[in-house]
Amino acid sequence: MATETSPAVTVTQMPTFTEATLDPGVPPGPIEEKWEKHKFNMKLVNPANKRKFTILVLGTGLAGASAAASLGELGYNVKSFCFQDSPRRAHSIAAQGGINAAKNYRNDGDSVFRLFYDTIKGGDYRAREANVYRLAQISTNIIDQCVAQGVPFAREYGGLLDTRSFGGAQVSRTFYARGQTGQQLLLGAYQALSRQIAAKTVEMHPRTEMLDLVVIDGRARGVVIRDLITGKIETYVGDAVVMATGGYSNVYYLSTNAKGCNASAIWRAYKKGAYLANPCFTQIHPTCIPVAGESQSKLTLMSESLRNDGRIWVPRKADDKRNPNDIPEGERNYYLEERYPAFGNLVPRDVASRAAKAVVDSGYGVGELKNGVYLDFSTAIKRLGEHVIKDRYGNLFDMYANITGEDPYKVPMRIYPALHYTMGGLWVDYNLMSSIPGLFVLGEANFSDHGANRLGASALMQGLSDGYFVLPYTMGNYLAQATLGKVTTDDPAFKEAQYTVDDQVKRFLAIKGTRTVDSFHRELGKLMWDDCGMGRTAESLQHALTKIPQLRAEFWANVNVPGGGNDLNQELEKAGRVADFFELAELICLDALHRNESCGGHFREEFQTPDGEALRDDENYAYVAAWQYAGAGVSPILNKEPLKFDYVKLSQRSYK
Ligand SMILES: Cc1cc2nc3c(=O)[nH]c(=O)nc-3n(C[C@H](O)[C@H](O)[C@H](O)COP(=O)(O)OP(=O)(O)OC[C@H]3O[C@@H](n4cnc5c(N)ncnc54)[C@H](O)[C@@H]3O)c2cc1C
Repeated sequence: MATETSPAVTVTQMPTFTEATLDPGVPPGPIEEKWEKHKFNMKLVNPANKRKFTILVLGTGLAGASAAASLGELGYNVKSFCFQDSPRRAHSIAAQGGINAAKNYRNDGDSVFRLFYDTIKGGDYRAREANVYRLAQISTNIIDQCVAQGVPFAREYGGLLDTRSFGGAQVSRTFYARGQTGQQLLLGAYQALSRQIAAKTVEMHPRTEMLDLVVIDGRARGVVIRDLITGKIETYVGDAVVMATGGYSNVYYLSTNAKGCNASAIWRAYKKGAYLANPCFTQIHPTCIPVAGESQSKLTLMSESLRNDGRIWVPRKADDKRNPNDIPEGERNYYLEERYPAFGNLVPRDVASRAAKAVVDSGYGVGELKNGVYLDFSTAIKRLGEHVIKDRYGNLFDMYANITGEDPYKVPMRIYPALHYTMGGLWVDYNLMSSIPGLFVLGEANFSDHGANRLGASALMQGLSDGYFVLPYTMGNYLAQATLGKVTTDDPAFKEAQYTVDDQVKRFLAIKGTRTVDSFHRELGKLMWDDCGMGRTAESLQHALTKIPQLRAEFWANVNVPGGGNDLNQELEKAGRVADFFELAELICLDALHRNESCGGHFREEFQTPDGEALRDDENYAYVAAWQYAGAGVSPILNKEPLKFDYVKLSQRSYK
């Protein structure tokens, strides 16, 4: 499976690809009515027939848990899989800052249209209008649903739900539960899932990893699963498969994601025919604790919500070694407030990250390694009092103090951008179905709603919208119309997929090389960060595309996977994931190389405005690039979904 070591293209010249056009199946009519009308026009499965269908749901984060619980409640027969020991430990639990919704409780000018507009603009006009509008419409239902489940959103003194602001918006539409919004939302989804487990509509399989997708007669009909405790490789048949397996930031090794997050599910689906869209659209979050040393394996996010009250600055003098509290106001450069007066510290993530990189690269970085900028709460503490700041962000401040040994109530935090989220993912149509009929993709695993840059607090919104409110309709529509023949695990397609997985396990164990999996992963991550990180050039991408296959060849010849295949073996798990990261990394770089423009998180240094902002090329690149696997060592096929903007005018993004 994951063994090719030849480069996908010859990189001495700009690659050319076979091209095709993709239709996302957006229903006709005015944008405000599309979803309502589509819901009515969709085919239904009657209640007695629902239990005859088996749906395999991979992932129990917000997207997967909400989908499995909703499908179970509808009466489908659901099997749910996750690699953690409990569904409630999915990575969504880490989400800190909040979830957006166009409730306009503040009466500050918010609306469904404004959330739609902000999201399209924030994504630098590289998202599909119809999906984003639906997301904004559904956002209000999500809050009602979660409140009904008992999610303890923060409330104001009078008892109303409180909101705060996130980047890229001038309204206050982010609902939150202190700095642990993801955890509280996941507990809500998990309790809904648990109810279905008890009702036996959902069969839960924790500690299992999906390692291949089975496609029969062109439709997704099953999966190959490895039991992580016993090592047993099993196959499951389904009438449809739902992939909600999260993002792939960990291809960069250092990221804010949980160490377990990986790309294997989507990558293996890609190799079975699912298109992978915009893989180079990766998000670098501006407010993370800076890297502290060479042996670090994880980065920690300081939530974007902190930018509500924290002010970002660097000393005006380069290499200023003074204690930040001794630097007078006049000698501080509040560079975001100065450069972007309209949005100030709340500019979107891509803009804030690039600005931080620019000041650090110019020698103004702070901290021992001079690799950070200050996030300072002293003004807010003076204005509101320490207790208010503690109420709002107490757990984040504690986390920062525990990691750095510095007290952020007394000295400014030090922050720097880090890999955080991936807007790219498996391509889906309006119904959230991939290019393989019967394979639906939800949450961060799909490419859908965020274009080239996701706005803060919009991932939780999207995952829950997909799982609670979109899939339950579109799945029924698919099952009601698909003619699905009877399939068993004796089918040669299952046998072949099972064999491939088993064979890969054996090969890893047989290599017995001298380097650890982590050492390869770290080297790959550094290469990706240097060559395809916050800034990319044709030259750096070509460098990466030459180096990755060499490193991958060494990996397959010299990796050391200790232990065996019949019990818990985390090195073996990691080896499979890193093998897939190698191949995905190459596609990310290819995608970045082919897109000769800058947009959102994809900043090609050759394409920038005179004042250093991302310079789009709408004439040539206003499309989704959905890559289709064409075989080992062969250039993938480029399927283009043209992006049309009928409701938001394409313009140069400005936050000034
Ligand atoms: C530190 C941090 C803070 C964040 N804060 C916010 C925030 O405040 N607001 C916001 O909107 N967004 C936030 N985000 C982003 C957001 O948390 C994620 O995008 C979102 O939670 C992803 O949810 P998901 O359901 O798609 O995937 P995940 O929660 O990542 O779940 C993936 C699931 O898939 C399973 N899985 C994966 N691969 C396999 C496989 N091969 N076989 C079986 N199971 C598999 C896993 O076990 C897991 O259950 C934050 C992200 C980070 C890293």
